[in-house]
Amino acid sequence: MPVMVIGTFGGSSKPGRLEDFLRPFITEVNELFQRGLKLGGKVIPFMLRAVIADAPMRAYLKATVNFNGKHGCLSCTTVGRSERSGRGRTTVFETVNAPLRTDAAFRNWDYPEHQTGRTPLEDIAHLDMIKGFPVGERLHLIDEGVTKKFLMACWQTALMHANLFIGEADRRMSFLHF
Ligand SMILES: [Zn+2]
Repeated sequence: MPVMVIGTFGGSSKPGRLEDFLRPFITEVNELFQRGLKLGGKVIPFMLRAVIADAPMRAYLKATVNFNGKHGCLSCTTVGRSERSGRGRTTVFETVNAPLRTDAAFRNWDYPEHQTGRTPLEDIAHLDMIKGFPVGERLHLIDEGVTKKFLMACWQTALMHANLFIGEADRRMSFLHF
C-alpha cells in the first residue's frame, strides 16, 4: 500500500508530554473514524490500522518499558535475563513461545511490569494496541542489530587472525639472525 505523507513535524528534542503531543491527533482520528473521510463528494471509511515507529518511539508512544528491558517485548510476555556482554550488558530473551500480549489485557493494564503508564492512544478504541504496532523496522532489528553484530564478529575475527599471523611471523623471524 503506498504511503501518503500528510504532515511532518520537527523539533530539537523528543516531544515532552505524550498527552500534549498526541491529543489533537487522537481527536482527529476518532472524528474521521466516525464520519469517514470526505473526498470528491465520496465518503471513504477511515481507520488507524497501524502506528509505524522505530523501537524507542514505539515504547515511548505506548508508554512501555524500553525494547531492551526485561519486560520490553511488545508482542509477547517473555521475560528477559540481563547478561554481561563485552563491556556492557545485554538482555537475552530465551523463548519465542511465551503467551502473546492482547489488546484487551493491555487496555486493562494487565502488564504492570511492561506498561509504565497510560498512553492517550488507548482512547482510539478501534486501534489494536498490540497488532497495531508492528515490530519489524529495519534500522534497529537488521542494520543496528543483526548486521552490526555480524560485522563486529567478522572484524574481531579478522583482527584475531591478523594477530595470530603477526605472532607466527614474529616466531619464524626470531630464527633469523641478521
Ligand atoms: Zn516476544
